[in-house]
Amino acid sequence: MTEHNEGWIKTTCAYCGVGCGIEARPKHSGELEIRGDKEHPSNYGKLCTKGIALGETVIHDGRLLSPTLKTGHGDEALSWEDATTMVAERFTQTIQEHGPDSVAFYVSGQLLTEDYYVANKLIKGFMGTANIDSNSRLCMASSVVGHKRAFGSDTVPVCYEDLEQAEMVVIVGSNLAWCHPVLFQRLRTAKQENPSLKIVVVDPRKTDTCELADTHLPIESGSDVALFNGLLAHLIQQDSLDHEFISSHTDHFDETTHAALSEQNIEEITGLTEQQLIQFYSEFANTDKVITIYSQGVNQSSSGSDKVNAILNCHLATGKIGKAGCGPFSVTGQPNAMGGREIGALANTLTAHMEFDNPEHLQLVSDYWQTDTLATQPGLKAIDMFDAIDSGKIKAVWIIATNPMVSLPNSDKIRSALEKCPLVVVSDCIADTETSRLADVVLPAQGWSEKSGTVTNSERRISRQRRILPSPGEAKPDWWIISQVAQKMGFKEAFDYIHEGEIFAEYAKLTTLGNDNFERDLNLIGLTQLDDKGYSQLKPQQWPVTELQDQVVNQRLFSDGQFYTSNKRARFVAVNYQAPLAKADAKHPLILNSGRVRDHWHTMSRTGLSPKLAEHTTEPFVQVHPDTASKYQILDGQLAKVSNLQGEALVRAKVTSEVSPSQLFMPIHWNETTSKNSKPCALIANTTDELSGQPEFKHSAVAISSFASVSCAVFISKDTLDLNDMDYWARQKVQGGYLYRIESVLPMSELAAKLKGYLQVDDQRLISSESHQGQAQWLILDNDKPTQLLSVQERFADWEVTRLIEAYLQTDEQGSASDIMQTLANDPQSLTPA
Ligand code: SF4
Repeated sequence: MTEHNEGWIKTTCAYCGVGCGIEARPKHSGELEIRGDKEHPSNYGKLCTKGIALGETVIHDGRLLSPTLKTGHGDEALSWEDATTMVAERFTQTIQEHGPDSVAFYVSGQLLTEDYYVANKLIKGFMGTANIDSNSRLCMASSVVGHKRAFGSDTVPVCYEDLEQAEMVVIVGSNLAWCHPVLFQRLRTAKQENPSLKIVVVDPRKTDTCELADTHLPIESGSDVALFNGLLAHLIQQDSLDHEFISSHTDHFDETTHAALSEQNIEEITGLTEQQLIQFYSEFANTDKVITIYSQGVNQSSSGSDKVNAILNCHLATGKIGKAGCGPFSVTGQPNAMGGREIGALANTLTAHMEFDNPEHLQLVSDYWQTDTLATQPGLKAIDMFDAIDSGKIKAVWIIATNPMVSLPNSDKIRSALEKCPLVVVSDCIADTETSRLADVVLPAQGWSEKSGTVTNSERRISRQRRILPSPGEAKPDWWIISQVAQKMGFKEAFDYIHEGEIFAEYAKLTTLGNDNFERDLNLIGLTQLDDKGYSQLKPQQWPVTELQDQVVNQRLFSDGQFYTSNKRARFVAVNYQAPLAKADAKHPLILNSGRVRDHWHTMSRTGLSPKLAEHTTEPFVQVHPDTASKYQILDGQLAKVSNLQGEALVRAKVTSEVSPSQLFMPIHWNETTSKNSKPCALIANTTDELSGQPEFKHSAVAISSFASVSCAVFISKDTLDLNDMDYWARQKVQGGYLYRIESVLPMSELAAKLKGYLQVDDQRLISSESHQGQAQWLILDNDKPTQLLSVQERFADWEVTRLIEAYLQTDEQGSASDIMQTLANDPQSLTPA
């Protein structure tokens, strides 16, 4: 198939780091038809629920449509010329008055490589500071540190096809089934074809990933270093080492041996039995081809870098690396987290796998960019950056394609920082985010399906993301917006790009500087001769790219035993278990874990637009073990308050033995625009791994108590509502509108009276019924079509909510919306679904 065939256009999915190939074509409705790209080596035609539903999310609801100045007295639309001039002047003035380190960019793994490149070049090359960090800091910074310490480079050595060749797959701190679903599907197929493939899941929670596992090791939160040091000690004691590999290709084995053998009390620390440990250790030792997949459960920790190296040590000690079916495999969360790592859009790397501490690299880059203001020192990592904004050291910040008010720990501190900052610029495709509410200037960016450029997935494969739909309003590519500002800051020649292909060509050439003999792993020399047509038709390319890849190639790295350290030898890193920083105590006796649900992504700005995706998990929740629920009088399905000294959250309790009695789990997606007070980040401290700067999202000490609401409402409305005077609400997208679940400490009649004020009655037809007990129902019709539906009761069963949705959609066979409402009010049982 060509790139354009019967209207189908090849592109890549907007979500996780699997990087699935998609084919999309516009429908008359304005949505997109979506199918998996059978030729793409990430997924060979498969897609998960999020990928399949992408077509539903390209609607223009809530889009930011024009550059806007937010004055506090109202919003003022600006032309692009005025907006970019103003941003340029304010950054220039701030640098002149306070120096380069008084400005910062906070960017995102959602950006395309070309966007990343221009942002990194502007701030490091021309504004003279390395204060640029990506929200990828929150997902894989510890892996970057671990890789660099062990390999001398940030290298993911494996390919996806290694999963199909492995004899044992260890999945650590990753709910692969929900967070990287197509990789999980590939693993499922591999297991079906080879039932002897052993799968071990290491996770404090019993997740859907365990469904495929032969063994689930429910370790204590944060104890991974002890587990893998125990494994290394076992390999040493049983002499299951690859002596030839260790002696020929590695350094520092003796110190690491000493550290591993000194690790004590492994059963107690991990909470695993001797039998569980021995079985896992023996299987690892006695299996030739082992892959260890790991993700946020490893990275998002105050000892994340050490956890990564504890895993890498075991692979190096057994030579299980650089061979088919073998290796450590850090799976990246975001669609282009890897692209950001390549570009160097992290405060502590220069660019293109070149480093600040290498004078030759600094010279190469400043010559290439023709600048004499190149930053020469690392900048501030995400948490430190926002601390510096809060303390007034940073006075101007540009936040691009990310929502730190929701995703960074300690939301109150982020709010305080942004409120104080003299200049907050936000580029986003969504108009109303918690972060944009605090901006001085908002700039409308293109969304997925409108953007054009490249992304790199977890196996180092670069794919094209292609433009399929026109942009609404005045939305522009991020690279264009940044280039316009750069030009107006006086850097016209360096940022005079006409299209994204030019930027990619410049980036590809940068990867080859001082890299004639592939001294660095990231080398795209095979792509430096691409013309516009070649870039337009580019097929997936796995780096390093020595020549243009017309066919799918799979290159695992380190097959020759050569690494990217100065002496080409890998380094063992001696590590020891350190307990997580937050400790449970009498007031906060439980440990809160956080993560994703299957069908939502990050802050839901895109997945929250799909009625289908919203059905899987309709509300923010907390998982509570039955013993814990009984101890704290928490009832399944009722609201619970999770709190600590930092904040609190109100969420629906799900009583389940999938978590241990000492743990709770909350999803990360809901925020102030989609619910009231349900963010785990309000409870998470901004403590980090010292080396990687990655926050400890998986381990916060909290308390739980029940929340005694006495009345509930379901409110479905064509338009979004501002319900912040309610005690609790959560929003779900449904066909033709939004459904709000509301709970209150007010009696039903008072809640009903309060909510009645939100009905938009005007001349439309209103149908209502109110009982003496306070139950009430209202239905507003416009030309016989429901536009608002409100029902107030003491409680709602799930089926009652379903019937209300049916009434709103008039999809029920039992009659019109008003019939259903009437019957619900008078005789709910008659409507119980079969
Ligand atoms: Fe998209 Fe990831 Fe699902 Fe693939 S697995 S379709 S990249 S969300």
